[in-house]
Amino acid sequence: MAELRLSGVVKRFGGVTAVDGVGLDIPSGEFFVLLGPSGAGKTTTLRLVAGLERPDAGRVSIGGRDVTALAPALRDVAFVFQQYSLYPHLSVFDNLAFPLRSPLRPSPETEVRRKVEEVARMLRIHDKLQNPATRLSGGQMQRVAIGRALVRSPALYLMDEPLSSLDAKLRNDLRLELKRIQQDLGATMLYVTHDQIEAMTLATRIGVLDAGRLVQVGTPQQIYENPGSAHVASRLGSPRINLVARGLFPQLDGPERAVTVGIRTEHLRLHRRPAASGPGMAHRGASVRRIERLSDLHLVHVGLDDSGQELIVSAPANESFEPNDAVQVELLRPLWFDAEGQRIHA
Ligand code: ATP
Repeated sequence: MAELRLSGVVKRFGGVTAVDGVGLDIPSGEFFVLLGPSGAGKTTTLRLVAGLERPDAGRVSIGGRDVTALAPALRDVAFVFQQYSLYPHLSVFDNLAFPLRSPLRPSPETEVRRKVEEVARMLRIHDKLQNPATRLSGGQMQRVAIGRALVRSPALYLMDEPLSSLDAKLRNDLRLELKRIQQDLGATMLYVTHDQIEAMTLATRIGVLDAGRLVQVGTPQQIYENPGSAHVASRLGSPRINLVARGLFPQLDGPERAVTVGIRTEHLRLHRRPAASGPGMAHRGASVRRIERLSDLHLVHVGLDDSGQELIVSAPANESFEPNDAVQVELLRPLWFDAEGQRIHA
């Protein structure tokens, strides 16, 4: 496995700058997730690394070797796309064996069998090896597509939303398997998703892309706890961080330039009115509008009394609020953002 380095990579399509000066160092064995909304440049970045696109500027190197001008087949990367493309007339076994029988690097048949069986066992499709690829469920087909990448031992795996076409249960199962397999293989992975739960659970580090720019890179925890902008703050965390005008909390001490306050749902606390106001507490009168009851916590939607602004609060399930309850909202850890949405440290 090898490290991946991008420096100053730019890719334009006509007037659109899809990738705008991306620099990135991914050490060997890292599971790196590119996270961003639709159109942010995630797929283009992956295609540039795979060699399916040529950058207008910048360099790509894999394992210390400059591959910027190298054809895809010579880069030693394995690619899994969102839409799995299996060979329908081949069995699962032959689909998995296909990359190993490539004329570029043919392997002995005993080795092909050993490798295919090993990967099929990992992905729990071992009992389907003789089936035609077309007689599989969507989830099984996607496993075969992932398996086709895993049978090789490339320098780098590139995966573009490989789980997005699966139902929630399968997505969860395969996510856990992918992480386990990546750790077992010590594989270097560049993985694209717009799903923040995938990003949080899979990543060693996350790179947040916005309009072609890498706006923040860090561990899931660093990015969650210390977002550099309101944009990044709202990309991680479910439910989404509350972003409100600073003017709604005039009693809060904050940096002068701050115009927006971000408060994670778990950093708000509800008190029944009337409530004692402690030192340093920022309380606001509000009323409960509706409650989403999840298994271990409740998401309480409250409306602030004077402005009508809605906030979402994660409350312990045993606090049992009801619609129309009068409450006080306490802010525990506000994050401050300026007019451009950049974070300001208090
Ligand atoms: P999604 O999550 O929707 O797949 P993405 O983050 O992967 O989005 P890209 O597919 O990389 O985004 O696209 C980035 C930008 O580049 C978009 O504005 C897109 O329209 C544009 N783009 C991508 N490929 C091409 C192309 N071949 N020709 C023209 N424009 C393109």
